[in-house]
Amino acid sequence: MKKDTSNWSARTKAVHAGTRRSQYNEVSEAIFMTQGFVYETAESAEQRFIKLGEDEFIYARYGNPTVAMFEERCAALEGAEDAFACGSGMAAVNAALVSMLRAGDHVVSAKALFGSCLYILEEILGRYGVETTFVDGTDLEQWKAAIRPNTKAVFFESVSNPTLEVIDIKAVAEMAHAVGAKVVVDNVFATPVYSKAIELGVDVVVYSTTKHIDGQGRALGGVVLGTREFIRGTLEPYMKHTGAAMSPFTAWIMLKGLETLELRVKAQTATAEAIAKALEGHPKLERVIYPGLASHAQHDLCMAQMGAGGTMVGYEIKGGRDAAFRFMNALKICVISNNLGDAKTIITHPFTTTHQRLPQEQKDHLGITTGLIRMSAGLEDSQDLVNDVLQALEQA
Ligand SMILES: *Cc1c(COP(=O)(O)O)cnc(C)c1O
Repeated sequence: MKKDTSNWSARTKAVHAGTRRSQYNEVSEAIFMTQGFVYETAESAEQRFIKLGEDEFIYARYGNPTVAMFEERCAALEGAEDAFACGSGMAAVNAALVSMLRAGDHVVSAKALFGSCLYILEEILGRYGVETTFVDGTDLEQWKAAIRPNTKAVFFESVSNPTLEVIDIKAVAEMAHAVGAKVVVDNVFATPVYSKAIELGVDVVVYSTTKHIDGQGRALGGVVLGTREFIRGTLEPYMKHTGAAMSPFTAWIMLKGLETLELRVKAQTATAEAIAKALEGHPKLERVIYPGLASHAQHDLCMAQMGAGGTMVGYEIKGGRDAAFRFMNALKICVISNNLGDAKTIITHPFTTTHQRLPQEQKDHLGITTGLIRMSAGLEDSQDLVNDVLQALEQA
């Protein structure tokens, strides 16, 4: 039996929404580690294949009770009608776009994208006759010029990786909707805690749950959120037949992640802000990039759109790659890796790792310099982290 959670606040939904209890009435969500389901009779099997009832499942590629709990909890938190869980964030981005597009369609996308998202748009969709125009996502004039009558989707990261540009969701959505295009947003950096994406006009919200939703670096996952019509009518048939489903065990990890999501993300945001403030104006830095600082070009937009600066901080070390590497190697608490949203503070050098393959011209355009550091604030004591960064900067 499910409870009506619609009047509850986000913290309460994060703990209870979507919960289904078995005959044992377990407190913690059960892991239904099963691919299939037994039908009482041949007739009930036939009936289920004609029409699935509430809490009826056929095969875990397209439905499982633990996965359904996760999907429902995500939808409740996002304020979306429905959700579909996927095996990774990239499976979710791919399914959201490929399921809604066909040959001859046009897409407008922001340039500042996660590398694999760029591959889907340029390589995969391009191969099947979908054309994409790339724009500077912060420049509304460029969106306006690029959107045309056959534009079927616009795509962007609401806060971009790694340079933390904030895109005006409402303004882009209005332009897209004027030609009937769907707005698809990769919302990882905003997290469900600060997302008002649906309220601002987004049609399809995508998360890599590998990031803040797991938040403890254990499992890959993704989720697509939108209207029931889109999720069940467009996305589900694509997912059902192509197979990038989330495993029930992963869904359980992610459900447990959702319970503490808001507490973690708010603490990580406070730490990110403390680090950004401690670093702003530091003589060894060219600049500090944090949307929560008044110095950020889209600070006002970020505050209106998210209400906070988020868990990520960027900064550019004077002296380029050598100085950046000396700094990274001198850190004692922060670890060098490329995940984000984790309990552990993670530091990344995008120029030589995550964005290494981008042509120099693109790196220049996106502001990915040799001195740029991307930092994902974790759950450690924030003063310990500030001290760690300051002592390492002395070595840079
Ligand atoms: C990590 C990430 C992805 C991909 O997610 P995976 O779970 O690694 O497949 C997509 N978009 C953004 C913005 C990300 O940070």
